[in-house]
Amino acid sequence: MLLNSVKIKNYRNYDQEEMTFGPGLNVFIGENAQGKTNLLEALYLCATLRSFRTRKDRELIKKEEDQAYIKLEVSSQEGEKTLEMLLKKDQKKRVKKNGLSVTSISDLLGTVKAVLFSPEDLKIVKDSPLERRQFMDSEIIQTSPRYYHSLKSYQKIVKQRNQLLKKMDVNEEQLMVWDQQLSEYASMVLQLRHQFLSELLALAKPIHQAITEGKEALDLEYSPGIKLPKDWYRYAQVDLRDYIQGEMERYRKKDLYHRTTHLGPHRDDIHFMINGMEVRRFGSQGQKRTVVLSLKLAVLEWVKKESGEYPVLMLDDVTSELDHKRQEYLLHYLKPIQTFITTTHFDEKMKKNSEGSFFLIQDGKIKKKT
Ligand code: ATP
Ligand code: MG
Repeated sequence: MLLNSVKIKNYRNYDQEEMTFGPGLNVFIGENAQGKTNLLEALYLCATLRSFRTRKDRELIKKEEDQAYIKLEVSSQEGEKTLEMLLKKDQKKRVKKNGLSVTSISDLLGTVKAVLFSPEDLKIVKDSPLERRQFMDSEIIQTSPRYYHSLKSYQKIVKQRNQLLKKMDVNEEQLMVWDQQLSEYASMVLQLRHQFLSELLALAKPIHQAITEGKEALDLEYSPGIKLPKDWYRYAQVDLRDYIQGEMERYRKKDLYHRTTHLGPHRDDIHFMINGMEVRRFGSQGQKRTVVLSLKLAVLEWVKKESGEYPVLMLDDVTSELDHKRQEYLLHYLKPIQTFITTTHFDEKMKKNSEGSFFLIQDGKIKKKT
């Protein structure tokens, strides 16, 4: 997949900018607070329809303006596509694909496939299980509309079930109605997450080993938010659903007592290990960063396997945090993938070794370097 060009208007600190990208490396160089991350954010927004920095669209619109606009031209294995996005202060965003309005998000997902790696992503290994669930969700959603549907349905039912549990006069029969549906969606989410993680691990292991020159062995363990039999992932989906429904029934009294839903993928977690030690508790800062880097590079391969083409890669400010060897590994690895890198300074030595397009960003103005 290639992003050919973009036009942005009144997005964050930009007035109006237009540019075309190269097929390989695209490097955006600029001092702090000039608009580097804002540009990546606008591009990534076209892939996920949600900013990676805020849930509020109005923050994306330039101060004192009423609306922002992004137009992205892409080429993929399905041909050329245009994506337009209009963000308005007090309205939902409007999206057009090839000039036609799109109303359902599932019709849009996958139009632009992108993997982002930013310093914030350290959260995946450092912070709460929520970060790890969001990591799985945002990656799987890009290639699986079925996952998107199951997840959204599951989350909606858990929310409704929890609201019901807060009521004083709720009884077990009322919960039973929800639990049938809940088990159905839970089983699909669990199976798809398990499949994703086991494929991801197989892809991430050799990458991580190469980056660490064979010194570190990466491993991960999926920890579902419901106790399951040892070989649950071999179950047919209906059998897993029935098993979950049985467990929900066993927990109903506890759920009623504590007024919340105890079991299910909304409590999932992942444990990352290096040489058998849990990274979250024992890993150094650099080790954590390398784990996330390996995971993100593995996602690139995973998307390629699932969809037949590489997504684009966006690296926000990460090269400065990697040592020289790791930077070099990264740039070499990325050769066949269109990549967008932001940085405050791009090493002249690295520049000689890498062909690409270079842009300077200063106070919301972008200039191509010749
Ligand atoms: P750094 O190297 O520090 O990461 P950056 O170049 O990535 O810097 P950005 O995060 O892109 O910087 O932000 C650039 C500027 O955009 C900041 O000064 C910020 O205040 C400004 N900004 C953010 N949102 C808006 C907005 N809605 N309207 C106007 N300006 C905004
Ligand atoms: Mg930035």
